[in-house]
Amino acid sequence: MIGTFSKKQTRYPVILNPFSENTAASQRTAPPLSPSQATFYPRSEHTVSRSQISHSAIKVLYQLKKAGFEAYLVGGCVRDLLLGRTPKDFDVATNANPEQIRRIFRNCRLIGRRFRLAHVHFGDDIIEVATFRGAADEDNESLQTHEDGRLLRDNVYGTLEEDVWRRDFTVNALYYNIRDFSIVDYTGGMYDLQQGILRLIGDPVTRYREDPVRMLRAVRFAVKLGFTLHPTCEQPLHELANLLNAVPAARLYDEMQKLFLSGYGLQTFEMLRHYGLFEILFPLTEACLATEKQHFPRLFLSRALENSDNRIAEGKSITPYFLLSVFLWEPIQDMAEKKIANGEHSTFAYQEAADEVLNRQVKSIAIPKRISQSMREVWQLQARLTQCKGVKPFRVLAHPRFRAAYDFLVLRAQTGGASPELAAWWTQFQEVDELTQKKMTRSGSLNQRNKKYSSTKSKT
Ligand code: ATP
Ligand code: MG
Repeated sequence: MIGTFSKKQTRYPVILNPFSENTAASQRTAPPLSPSQATFYPRSEHTVSRSQISHSAIKVLYQLKKAGFEAYLVGGCVRDLLLGRTPKDFDVATNANPEQIRRIFRNCRLIGRRFRLAHVHFGDDIIEVATFRGAADEDNESLQTHEDGRLLRDNVYGTLEEDVWRRDFTVNALYYNIRDFSIVDYTGGMYDLQQGILRLIGDPVTRYREDPVRMLRAVRFAVKLGFTLHPTCEQPLHELANLLNAVPAARLYDEMQKLFLSGYGLQTFEMLRHYGLFEILFPLTEACLATEKQHFPRLFLSRALENSDNRIAEGKSITPYFLLSVFLWEPIQDMAEKKIANGEHSTFAYQEAADEVLNRQVKSIAIPKRISQSMREVWQLQARLTQCKGVKPFRVLAHPRFRAAYDFLVLRAQTGGASPELAAWWTQFQEVDELTQKKMTRSGSLNQRNKKYSSTKSKT
């Protein structure tokens, strides 16, 4: 919903950097795109009000101001407030350097290597405070670039005027000034916000090369905000997608969670595939999707994403291991089937396939051990869920991963990968009293009906 802020734009001369003449940053060459003017929106011309800002963020802003520093809200929070959305978190930008920030806040920790940031803690609430970043000479140690153009380190401090150009998208580069409650716009972010356009600041190819994760961010924000990617930002995606291979796998795990667990997983998945980005994140999954068996793999994954989006919309919890186990299920099945065809026992075939698929997957996305352990349990339980006789169902029911494994089975049943009767049996088994449960486990009829689905699963 664009238009929650006034369309009238007033141009004021830039008077926002009273400190710039004294900083080392001001003596370096200015970033090429820096204009001499910003658009300045006084409080009366925008809708961001202090009542919408978290108390913790307000405290941080005022304490920085009291200590004589500049303090701005910046990034997604300003963008989201202007769009009438609830921000996920509040980020602060300041001219105080990390050490100065640490001295102001007792409850503060400095983090990060690539970017040094301060985290100010208020219980569970964390406000991220970043020192303005500046441009640097090429030989400056604090800014290191890999030969492929990637920024390895970016710790040169600067002024707000310089900081703007280091941000990714114009709509993410709006600053809310605690001094007078105005919003400062150097890059035309307000216009893009009104138009629903996602546009990288500067030359898109250079910016993607500097940090290929920006390609994932482009997709994530386009979907989340319902914005259109500006053609200059869209066009290089196909060509540059493989730059993501150079991004550390641990960072891609974090990004993966933001992509798929923020409530827009299905659309994000479709868009990532469209631009050839998904295949870099999940190469084995993409290979399976490309050779669809009766549409099953595609449906399975899409349905899982749709379900988890719905759960998020309803305020229910979701776990990364569930979706990840969905993503890798088809590659495991394909690999295990090949091993079985080569004469391997199905139990080992599935275990080995799980090992191999996980080993290959963690090269692109570093899945933490505790998550991959839960994924393995969900997969292993699929075989145990086909056994409905005797004491076994009771043991499965008591398993800590039962609920996830059951949901997984239901999903498979809904998309043609498992017997609907089997899923219905387990649904009923959970609902009835103990006496009926015992009766159910005495009958073996279901195992017969389930035969056509059990070739790959019941033997595992
Ligand atoms: P949200 O928190 O809603 O996902 P956000 O825009 O706040 O979105 P964050 O990851 O919290 O995203 O980053 C805060 C701000 O930092 C961004 O708005 C952007 O200005 C800047 N930023 C983050 N990541 C990058 C990046 N890879 N390159 C350039 N600027 C970035
Ligand atoms: Mg944010």
